[in-house]
Amino acid sequence: MRTRVLPISEASIDEACKVLLAGDLVAFPTETVYGLGGLGLNPDSVSKIFATKDRPTTDPLILHVSSDDLAALADDEIIAKPIPALAVALVSQFWPGPLTLTLPKGPRVPFGVTAGLPTVAIRYPAHPAAQLLLQKVGQPIAAPSANRFGRISPTDASAVLQELEGKIPLILDGGSCTQGIESTVLSLSGSNPTILRSGAITAEMISSITERQTLRDARNLQQSVPSPSPGMLQSHYAPQTPLYLAPTAIEHFDPPYQYILYEIRNSKLPPGAYLLAPDQNPSTAAQNLYRLLRQADSIGSPAILIDPIPDSNWAPAIRDRLQRASSGTALWQNGGWKLLPRAGA
Ligand code: AMP
Ligand code: MG
Repeated sequence: MRTRVLPISEASIDEACKVLLAGDLVAFPTETVYGLGGLGLNPDSVSKIFATKDRPTTDPLILHVSSDDLAALADDEIIAKPIPALAVALVSQFWPGPLTLTLPKGPRVPFGVTAGLPTVAIRYPAHPAAQLLLQKVGQPIAAPSANRFGRISPTDASAVLQELEGKIPLILDGGSCTQGIESTVLSLSGSNPTILRSGAITAEMISSITERQTLRDARNLQQSVPSPSPGMLQSHYAPQTPLYLAPTAIEHFDPPYQYILYEIRNSKLPPGAYLLAPDQNPSTAAQNLYRLLRQADSIGSPAILIDPIPDSNWAPAIRDRLQRASSGTALWQNGGWKLLPRAGA
């Protein structure tokens, strides 16, 4: 199959709409990462998504919707009634945007999308092209990140091409994603709202809405079996080159390793080094993270070492991704790098 890459325009969005309605898949930009979209209520399109990504069918997909009208989604049997008041408050604050909610599913959502779970994950993305596509398609689009399973999420069209060339007919090219990290996933189906995956919408931001209901973070709960959210796999989002986390700022740049620095410390960037946040802005670090991991991964170096991530709103989400992507810790000892494997990596 030939994979076409088309810049965003009215015509390319119409084309994407046609491909989707014919049951095929389209990769498209969102503000978080590029999504691999298929008709979310069509079990055949949903199966294609899993097959194309090589994603285990136990890992549920997010349904992308085109408005924050939860009552309309319930009438459409996408989510179940009654709608929690907290869900309404959260979407009025954070949608469109990088917050995914899991709620009891409505009868029209195939179990293929939810990996058999009685809940469905939904999100109204903020990217204008994604919104236009959703509006034109007129039904929810299931869209996991447009990478092969376990690999780094793509944040531009060239990364999607690298992952899925020949496997999908169309990529809509909307440039680089502004956020660069997957959405926050918040479960509203249990007794307390629970963060299943961290992202740009932080625990603090969510707590300002949840008020009296205690917000939980699934990573602090005992690992239950089965896991409440399959995306919580301990090893995930990984480059092929082993990644090691440095507990203190990297100051030695021995070849042949690649080095991802948070910010510049001397005036010159050493060879084999990359800068995550040249402007020292944490949101720039999030935006650059996957692109730089991909770039460092393409060199064929035996390892990538990365600086610690300083505290900020973005730190929990970035550290979470790095933890899952990492093979261990890098320590400078006796004039050389010591790479210590992580338990379970
Ligand atoms: P991706 O689309 O690759 O960003 O991954 C979507 C992630 O959303 C999954 O791996 C899960 O972590 C989460 N998710 C989707 N649906 C559900 C659900 N019904 N319950 C819990 N988590 C979900
Ligand atoms: Mg993914």
